[in-house]
Amino acid sequence: MLKLLCTGAPRHGLVISASHTHGLLNCRDTVLNQSPQETHALARVDTPSGGLSIAPGRLALLMEAGALHCVFQPIADLRSGSIFGHEALIRGPANTAWHRPDALLAMAQQEELLHEFELFCVQTALEQWGRLGEPGRLFVNISADALVHAVSQQGPESLLDAARRCGVSPRMLVLEITEHERVGDMALLHQTVRHIHAAGVTLALDDFGDGRSSLRLWSEVKPAYVKIDKYFTRELGERTECLQVVHALKGIAEVFGSVLIAEGIETRDDLRMLRDVGIPYGQGYLLGLPEQAVHKEILTQALEVIRDSRVSVLPQLQQTSRPGVLRHLPVIQAPAADLHTSNNELAEMFKKRPELHAMAVVDQGRPVALINRQQFMNHYATLYFREVHGRKPCLAYANHSPRVVELDYDVDELVGILTSQDQRYLSDGFIVTDNGRYVGLGTGDQLVRSVTEARIEAARHANPLTFLPGNIPISMHIDRLLESGTEFVACYADLNNFKPFNDLYGYWRGDEMIRLVARLCVQHCDARRDFVGHVGGDDFMILFQSSNWQRRCEQIVEEFATEALNLFDEAARQAGGIRAEDRHGVMRFFPCTTLSIGAVRIQRGDFRSAEQVANEAALAKHEAKHQGSGLHIRLRQGQ
Ligand code: C2E
Ligand code: MG
Ligand code: MG
Repeated sequence: MLKLLCTGAPRHGLVISASHTHGLLNCRDTVLNQSPQETHALARVDTPSGGLSIAPGRLALLMEAGALHCVFQPIADLRSGSIFGHEALIRGPANTAWHRPDALLAMAQQEELLHEFELFCVQTALEQWGRLGEPGRLFVNISADALVHAVSQQGPESLLDAARRCGVSPRMLVLEITEHERVGDMALLHQTVRHIHAAGVTLALDDFGDGRSSLRLWSEVKPAYVKIDKYFTRELGERTECLQVVHALKGIAEVFGSVLIAEGIETRDDLRMLRDVGIPYGQGYLLGLPEQAVHKEILTQALEVIRDSRVSVLPQLQQTSRPGVLRHLPVIQAPAADLHTSNNELAEMFKKRPELHAMAVVDQGRPVALINRQQFMNHYATLYFREVHGRKPCLAYANHSPRVVELDYDVDELVGILTSQDQRYLSDGFIVTDNGRYVGLGTGDQLVRSVTEARIEAARHANPLTFLPGNIPISMHIDRLLESGTEFVACYADLNNFKPFNDLYGYWRGDEMIRLVARLCVQHCDARRDFVGHVGGDDFMILFQSSNWQRRCEQIVEEFATEALNLFDEAARQAGGIRAEDRHGVMRFFPCTTLSIGAVRIQRGDFRSAEQVANEAALAKHEAKHQGSGLHIRLRQGQ
């Protein structure tokens, strides 16, 4: 076994073996002038004995020639902006096909030098870091396979020795396990991890969420850090599902006692969102590029975001929530008839269960028809029915296309039943199934009640008219703002002279007007900072973090005044209003509908609950309404 000693001081810690290394020094120029294909060809040569064996290939040359080096990318604390550590990333010669690690790793694989190459990278990282004299944490990549191999061959001490000799404290060393999908022997990895932990070295799981990473590995390795793959940390504003995955990973990290690091942060919005979701550490081009020098500070663009205490508006709070699945679909446990049940037998069944409004007909567990009690009994009671039809199958009196509702039916589908042409569900009710199998019956009024309840619940999340978030997400967002201690402005918008408009033109146009308010509010708010909620009716809540909120409110008021006129007819527009009955039934003139916005500034420590903020905003609205159209800013004591 030969040590690959190519650059500077001899390496004592890690033993990096290669089949042949002799005669390869000083070949750097030759190597760099060849293409990867040529390298591949060179790497395999005929041995004197005639067999084909692995010759010292291009990678070995690069390693020997000292042509590889590491760059360091900062990992930052997303709350304070301070640097938490640096990740070492290997680089080949600049402006060649072997500059990027993936090309080098592919070459190592081709040349069957993967383990050697990986250890070489660890060694290079340690040496360079040691030379820089940096006391901070060093994250170093190594595949699970190479780690297991190195520890089983050389023991964990070799790693510690290597670190110490390079002047790197093992406590400051974090091994990032890459390529975890290739873990062959989990038991062996488990053992390796125990050794590594015992040696005081910390582990991280790299690229979690990328393709084949497994939760099992996370639970087995119990790494101190888990790096979330960049796929899940990009464009979080638009990709709500990724934000939810990040949320979920946070929960898992708590269970396994790991700390999360978000990789690949490239934009300010993503950084803000990750910080607000509570991801403690992050890495990415926005914070700092991989460079040979060590970063003393993360880049200003990222620091600005981190120091800005404004919270991001989480897309899932803005999202229209669907009514979802019925949680409490009442089911009446009832026996069922089968295809052969006779009319006499069915009559007996109804007699035994006088409360049942209907009876299902079931064939091998699957419902095929529904028989309405009253209709059936009306037939059964007729003269000679029993004598003529008593023993015949009861199916003749059945509804063969009954309403069948699965236990986890979506409320939207049930609404479809309520609004369909076939209203037999009102008298016949419906059959309840679980995965297609009969479980019981339900009545029409139960169905109406369940759907209504579900809709009311859903409306608390999103207003069905404007699809804007309703009271629950509004409160949740206020809570987040209060928690963050950031300054914000709570505005309550309300229409003036809306009732007479509604009375005169009807609800349909009334709804149009409400949608107009919603559209203008959304249009004039910055979706990343400002939150628009629909409390109900013509009441809207806007929670501003944008500093130019006043101008935005004025624009909403002004544009509303112009656009709302289009909803009046020509005569009203000419007259500047309409004649309608007031609350006392007296006809009088009402000016065209306008918008009032009451605003209140909320500073750190002013309030503790969302309710208090909402009340304060409602007071601002009342004051604003007294003053007529426009923006009114409520001044609280001390402001
Ligand atoms: P990795 O360990 O997940 O490293 C992060 C990769 O993402 C690096 O690419 C880095 O330059 C890149 N990156 C960092 N911030 C951003 C960003 O904001 N956006 C985007 N799009 N990319 C970002 P690099 O250096 O090309 O490394 C690629 C992979 O190669 C690494 O992924 C790691 O798996 C492997 N690798 C790199 N260096 C070594 C090494 O020394 N040893 C071993 N075994 N593998 C290494
Ligand atoms: Mg890594
Ligand atoms: Mg990674």
